[in-house]
Amino acid sequence: METAIQLHPHDVRDEGATRTVENILKRAKIHTIIPETATLDERHPYPRGILPHNPLHDVVNTKALLEVPLPKDYFSNLQFSPVQSKKAQSGNDYIGKLITVANKYGISVIPWVKGLNASFEGDISSFAIQTIQGKIVSTWLCPSKSKTVEYVIQLLKGIVGHYSSQAVMLDRMRYPDWSGDKVRPERMLTCFCPKCEKGMEEYGIDLALLKNELNKILSAYHQNPEKLLDLQISTEGKIEIKKWILFRQENITRLTTKVSNSLRRWSEEVGVGKKFWLNLWSPSFAKFLGQNYNSLAEICDGAKHFPYHRLGGGADLAGLVKELAGEDEDLQEKIFNLVIKILELPYDLSFKKFKDIGLPVEFVARETSIAKEQFKDKPIFSGIQIWDVPENDIIKACKAANEGNTDGYFYYCYGWAPFKALDVVGKIESK
Ligand SMILES: [Zn+2]
Repeated sequence: METAIQLHPHDVRDEGATRTVENILKRAKIHTIIPETATLDERHPYPRGILPHNPLHDVVNTKALLEVPLPKDYFSNLQFSPVQSKKAQSGNDYIGKLITVANKYGISVIPWVKGLNASFEGDISSFAIQTIQGKIVSTWLCPSKSKTVEYVIQLLKGIVGHYSSQAVMLDRMRYPDWSGDKVRPERMLTCFCPKCEKGMEEYGIDLALLKNELNKILSAYHQNPEKLLDLQISTEGKIEIKKWILFRQENITRLTTKVSNSLRRWSEEVGVGKKFWLNLWSPSFAKFLGQNYNSLAEICDGAKHFPYHRLGGGADLAGLVKELAGEDEDLQEKIFNLVIKILELPYDLSFKKFKDIGLPVEFVARETSIAKEQFKDKPIFSGIQIWDVPENDIIKACKAANEGNTDGYFYYCYGWAPFKALDVVGKIESK
């Protein structure tokens, strides 16, 4: 059974590496730390509250910057590179500092790398994802492009080599979800760059029909969200949408397989990066974002999924519903119902109640169990929400993960959770 905790750069920079490691070891009794190698466009903590034990900041807003001080010309063979934070540019290596302290305490540090999502500089327009309206999503690489494969491999090797890491967790190998610096539902309808459109046609998708049906959804949302409730998608349209969902899954699997193969060959040569973990959305959401558990199981050594039940899965479900429905509470209830139905979640729950208490903790058991089934003999680690939850919910979520036959608890996350939550974690027995 693996237990680990994730953290962000400001945790270590603001609290100091020693204090951070000691808190994790003494309070949470955890021996594996998974630090973020690049931030996201994100409010910390998300989506509300304050950082409960940060001595310098109540709230930190990050901007999707690389925090590993790789050499300036490291990506010069590509036409684009990830933007390094000013601190990383000046050599401030918070993970390096964390590893130095962690080594003294016998704690392992596993870098948490974001694959397709970052702030980029250079000529990104030919390599970024495009929405159905042709808008460039400049912070997200298109999984069909060969330069994207090169970039992810180079990024992984750069980071794993820099820290001589024995394991790595690769995140954001998927299409965009609706969240980011703000909630944008149209980011769900990607990628429609010329290469992906050609690929879809070769896959047997009727592109004109698919775009027509997806545009109906989009224009209903823009014109009058109430129209989403009785939107009629033709039978033929439904077939094309299903094919498109599968096309996206195959695209992500193909890309991740190339990355995994290259990492493994390199790992044999240099002796680092032997364990390759993925960070996946929970199964009910993952399929819509291009992640297919069955096929990804073949190419990794395990995966963490994140059924953060209070938040409603991996991202901000309430944020999506509010964006789609606006302020009208009655419409919010109806849209929430529709979203739960699309996700095939078996919960009879009002939006009002969901906003108060999230999804039932049973969601953790259900998603873990589905993930385990689809991942065959490969380990599945369950993300456990330890911020913005009553302490008792942490214990319940671990029990639920056990019911789903989990292979580990990955607690999320150090800086957002109050000390009393870390103390509760320290008392939880792993299997
Ligand atoms: Zn594309």
